[in-house]
Amino acid sequence: MSKVNMENQHNIPQQSPSTLNPKHIVILGGGFAGIGVLKKLQKEFDNDASVDITLVDKGNFLLFTPMLPEIVSGMIETRHIVTPVRSFCKKAKFFEADVDLIDLKNREVNLKHSIGKQPKYPQQQPPKQQQQSDYLHKHTLKYDYLVLALGSENNFFGNSDVEENAFTLKTINDGIVLRNHLIKILEQANLEQDNHDLRKRLLTFVVVGGGFSGVETVGAVNDFVRQTITQYYKNIYMSDVRVILVSATDQILEQIDEELGKFALEKLKENGVEFIMNSKVKGASKDKAILDNDTEIPCYSLIWTAGVTQNKLIAELECEHDKGHRIVTNEYLEVKNYEDVVYALGDCASIPDPHTGKSYPPTAQHAIRQADVAAKNIILSIKANKMKKGMGIVDENNMVRTTKKKFDYKTKGMMAQIGKRTGVAILFGKLKLHGFIAWWLWRSYYLANLPTVKKKLKVMGDWTLDLFFKPDVSQVQ
Ligand SMILES: Cc1cc2nc3c(=O)[nH]c(=O)nc-3n(C[C@H](O)[C@H](O)[C@H](O)COP(=O)(O)OP(=O)(O)OC[C@H]3O[C@@H](n4cnc5c(N)ncnc54)[C@H](O)[C@@H]3O)c2cc1C
Repeated sequence: MSKVNMENQHNIPQQSPSTLNPKHIVILGGGFAGIGVLKKLQKEFDNDASVDITLVDKGNFLLFTPMLPEIVSGMIETRHIVTPVRSFCKKAKFFEADVDLIDLKNREVNLKHSIGKQPKYPQQQPPKQQQQSDYLHKHTLKYDYLVLALGSENNFFGNSDVEENAFTLKTINDGIVLRNHLIKILEQANLEQDNHDLRKRLLTFVVVGGGFSGVETVGAVNDFVRQTITQYYKNIYMSDVRVILVSATDQILEQIDEELGKFALEKLKENGVEFIMNSKVKGASKDKAILDNDTEIPCYSLIWTAGVTQNKLIAELECEHDKGHRIVTNEYLEVKNYEDVVYALGDCASIPDPHTGKSYPPTAQHAIRQADVAAKNIILSIKANKMKKGMGIVDENNMVRTTKKKFDYKTKGMMAQIGKRTGVAILFGKLKLHGFIAWWLWRSYYLANLPTVKKKLKVMGDWTLDLFFKPDVSQVQ
């Protein structure tokens, strides 16, 4: 834990003035899972002073990740795919803070947040310890129910060279940084008329990972680079451009379907994407990627989308984990040994799928459905406990258990955009679509799922304008 002045440590009062002992539900994470739980709980306990709800996230907005690749291509404006968490908090409190420690035994969570202007590490010398404490404040939250929905983070499989040199696409900041980088690279290549090797190196873009993120990202990067060159960079020859996808297996989009994966691969090839299959990137530096067969790809743009893992906080939590460090839950989304108190869902949870015997995949689609179940179980538990108090029922767990809801969900469909108004989709496990219709379906589905009407209109506006105007190549944060 970072050192702080003890006077900066606070206990946040939990009692609402209207009741002596309200139940306190703390939700950690304001992503698809956390916000889903929050909405359902608020609806139920809107006017109920016996329940307090608090949500904590290190950022103050919900990011609509399926549209993140379109931030890179500039198709959608940055703010249009983020929604302030506060706009969901009708009853709940929201704290923007880093979750620093979760103490399951004592039912408390430690938060930390900075104060004032942030020190600019690593450009500036870090302030001395004493000064550093001035930047951080810590707080403790006590809970009766805890919802763990802290998502996942990029997995570099311990490869620090790759971690240092690759771009990623997980946060809105990643999207902005990558987009600006691509534009910068085009400006640089535009100047390097006499140095052919350098120009080619600048114009080589390598995306690692043949899953959803990798395929959608490579499609977006390929479209953006080629369209922008055609529109603005008359000095750059398209023949110098290489957009490469590196996949660890002999397929892409394995989660969707073999046939659809093949279609996506063929379409992306037609659009100019190269594929290096059955290969892994084992190293990288500022100006190259190194494959596991020691082939070097000269490039300044390596984009890593090759998997997720858990952060230290989740991985080291005192409970059962799966091989990927996700928290193991039962079918009610309760964390083992903390049943009826601690729930885990979304990307940070390993939830058993009764249909496959494996755990459910980490997707927004699942996180949203899991949120419904976790919220429902908390509601049932609170109601059951209230009833028991009145009825004097002693055997708490048995009664709660009989009414709880299991998470049992069959994926309705999977869809991916692959660039140039083309998509691939499999619906209800059988219906396979590809081409324009799948792309249109992708857009309609995700547009409908954006959290607010305002954001839906903004994104619709962006898509419409894109039909009539050239891409914007301003490098603005
Ligand atoms: C580029 C991209 C495209 C995707 N496309 C799709 C798609 O098309 N369809 C689909 O179903 N899924 C898609 N996904 C996957 C989907 O985004 C995740 O499965 C989903 O976001 C998981 O929801 P979650 O709530 O578990 O985690 P998240 O949405 O990641 O939310 C976790 C939250 O926890 C917060 N947090 C983490 N650690 C801390 C801490 N220590 N302190 C405070 N706050 C913390 C984070 O700030 C974040 O807000 C995509 C993902 C990416 C990256």
